[in-house]
This record gives sequence, C-alpha cells and structure tokens, in this order.
Amino acid sequence: MNRAGTSNGTAPSTAIADLDWRGGASAAGPLVIRGAHALDPGSGLDRICDLVIRDGRIAEIAESGAGRAPEGAEEIDAAGLHAFPAFFDPHVHLRSPGQEHKEDIETGTRAAAAGGYCGVVAMANTDPVVDDPAHVLALRERAQAEASVPTGFVATVTRGMRGEELTEMAAIRAAGAVGFSDDGLPIASARVMRRALQYQHLVGGTILLHEEDPELSGDGVMNEGPVSAALGLSGVPAVSESVMIARDAALCLYEDATAHVQHLSARVSVEAVETAKAAGAKLTAELTPHHLVLTDEEVRSLDARFKMNPPLRTEDDRQALIEALRRGTVDCIGTDHAPHAIDEKDVPFEIAMMGVTGLETAFAVLYTELVLPGVLDLGLIVERMGAGARLFDLDQPEIAVDAAANVVLVDLEHDWEGGAEGWESRSDNSCFHGRALKSRPMITIVGGEVAFRRRSFSMRVAG
Ligand SMILES: [Zn+2]
Ligand SMILES: [Zn+2]
Repeated sequence: MNRAGTSNGTAPSTAIADLDWRGGASAAGPLVIRGAHALDPGSGLDRICDLVIRDGRIAEIAESGAGRAPEGAEEIDAAGLHAFPAFFDPHVHLRSPGQEHKEDIETGTRAAAAGGYCGVVAMANTDPVVDDPAHVLALRERAQAEASVPTGFVATVTRGMRGEELTEMAAIRAAGAVGFSDDGLPIASARVMRRALQYQHLVGGTILLHEEDPELSGDGVMNEGPVSAALGLSGVPAVSESVMIARDAALCLYEDATAHVQHLSARVSVEAVETAKAAGAKLTAELTPHHLVLTDEEVRSLDARFKMNPPLRTEDDRQALIEALRRGTVDCIGTDHAPHAIDEKDVPFEIAMMGVTGLETAFAVLYTELVLPGVLDLGLIVERMGAGARLFDLDQPEIAVDAAANVVLVDLEHDWEGGAEGWESRSDNSCFHGRALKSRPMITIVGGEVAFRRRSFSMRVAG
C-alpha cells in the first residue's frame, strides 16, 4: 500500500487507496449493496441496481435483487439510498503535527469518511511546517496507523513557508509528497514562484496556490465592500486574489508548468482563470461549498464562524462562482476544512482565526442550497466533488465494473441540523452550525472497505 516515490518525478500510482491510510483492499471482505439508486455522471450510470464488491473493486453491477452475493459477503440493504462515487477533497487541514488541539489525522480523516470522502490531501502549514522529506515520511507513517481514508500530504513550496528559498522539491517528491503548497500564505515573490514552477516542471507533483497579494490584503478581516464599510472592519479586496492568479498564470505559461488555484472566491478571479485557460495555461481551479452558498452579509452577525480566507464575497461573486462551476471553469470542489479550537474563534471578529470546517457538511450544504432549489444538477455536484483526485494523477472515483470500490451511500431525504449531534471533527467552527440540512452520507466505502457507517444504519452478513 505504499505510494512509492520516484526520483524522476513521475507519479507511479493511480489508485486513491494507494495513498497512506490504515485500511487496504487486502483486508476487505466481499460486500453487496442492494437496491441503491446508483448515479455516476462519469460512467453514465443512473438506475436502481445491486453493486457486488470483491477484492476492493466493483465486481458486478446487477439488476436490483439479482446481484450474486459471494460467500461470507456483508449485505447492505440500500433501498431508498443513492450510491455515488465517493468524494475526494484536494484541500484539507489536518493540523498535524503540532496543532492537535484543533484536529489530528485520526479525527480529521474520520470527519472525511463521515462526509462521504474516500481520500483527502492535507496542507502543510502545520507547526512545524512540512518542509522536508523527513516530515513527509513521518506524516505518511502516522496516516498508515491512524487515517480512516487514504491521505496524501503536500510539503511547502518554500522553507519555513517564508516565501524566500525553495524546499528540496525533488527529495520531497521522492519521499512521497503528492505536491507542494504554502497554503495559508501566498508566494509573494514572482521570482520565487517562477523558480518553483521550473522545479515543478522537472519533479512533478501539483503546486497548489493560495492566491492573494499580501500588500493589497493588508490587515483585512473580511471582504472589502459595503458590508465592511458599514461594520467599520478593514477589507480584503477581490482584486487581491485576481492579480495573483493573473501573475501566476503568466508564469505557468512562460515556464510550461502546471498549477492549481485554490479556493476561488470572486468574479474577477473567475475571469482571470478563464483568461488564463483560454490562453493555454495549464491551470486548474477549485472552490469551496461556503463560497458557493454564503455571502459577506453573514458577517453582519460578527460571528467568527463566518471568518475565513479568502473571505465570503458578494452575491454577484457567488453567482459568478456558480456559473463557473456550471461552465467548467472551476474543475473541482474542495472544502478547505480548517479546524480551530473554541477559544480561537469565540473572540471578537477582528482577532479570531481565519478558517471553517467543511468535510462533514459539504455534500448536504450543496444539495440543500443548490440542488434542491434547482440551481445546479445533482450529477454536476457529484462529479466535481470527486474531480479533485485528478489534480494528483489519481483515478477519479467512479461506479463501473472493475473500478476501485469507492462508493458513498447517501440518504437524500435525511433531515438534520449542522452540529446538533456534534461532529466527528475535533472542532466546531462550522459556518453551517445550526443550519437545517437535507441529505446525509450514511455509509462510505473506500477501496472495498466500510470506512464509515452512521450508527443508525444496520448491515447483515449473508448465510
Ligand atoms: Zn488558503
Ligand atoms: Zn487552506
């Protein structure tokens, strides 16, 4: 199950389950999922059927009731549930090492499994930051002991995340990092960014970019606009994000390198990505559920659960993000799951830490706020919630014969309230705390293994 690193920079692995976690296909017994409505826009599947899972793969897709249970198979009565390809999150913060009071690999990946995810990629802005091969190896070892779902790790682009000197990118790739990111901070220097892209071109691995111009962002704590003016809070202008996207797109084109723009938040940023893609830049982009459904109007409450970076923007920005997802300008959805302790958030808005959790609410929020009102198609949401795997040359989860068995069973009729029963995550800083949500993942199957089962859900073992 080791993801063997290579020194020439090519990614040898294409299976999500080959990332580090405590499970593995060899340990999984056979499973039969009976009578779920399977929906996979990638493979074109959209019908009620039985899924037979063996040796970590989908062995058979049969008419409902006709799936032959292998001996000793566990059977899941999934009548009334939907089966989707499980989700993949390219952007989470697991806070290990050094900030385990917020989250750790065990709690963060359990939250991921509960949210329907079969894999996550953890950012490197920990304490200390992950900036050398030894750090990467240590984290991979911990994930093999603790992680509920396959977990990839990135290392920082610059030493100490100081934005000055590059890390040993080739050695870090050889140690098995899936990519590089200084997420939490931008790479302010164009010279350093250019050098990083030159190395990326040589060693592979994805460079994930947190885009903002630190001088334009200044000491802003929310979106710059009428709401920040009314509240008397300092603002971060949207153009702070878009100018850096434009700069890095130009550098990518010049160096023939690839990069991924994280958490797009504004219309001007969508336009910058569109321009870059039209010019041939090898750029991908992501956005978060919270930027898709909330605006800076929420900040009028001065509740720090609505404080994150990039900040919630305007309704016009939100509409541009929705349209960008629909058009394909945005390639994937990532949560930017960013746990914090209560005493880091339950303070005046200006001094509260930036960031919100997201793994356990992502699907339900998008379904409740965008699919049910008819704004976006269910299939589109499912597809973009798995597409983050492609950034790392991993196979996007799919429901097809012989595909790796990464499947989430979702009850679209399930009503619940965000946070009412607590969270699997160690942290409670969800911007959807207290919100009425419809739909919930019930079971998450990863590489043929049940990685999460909601307590209310029963299974039986066939004769
Ligand atoms: Zn960020
Ligand atoms: Zn982040």
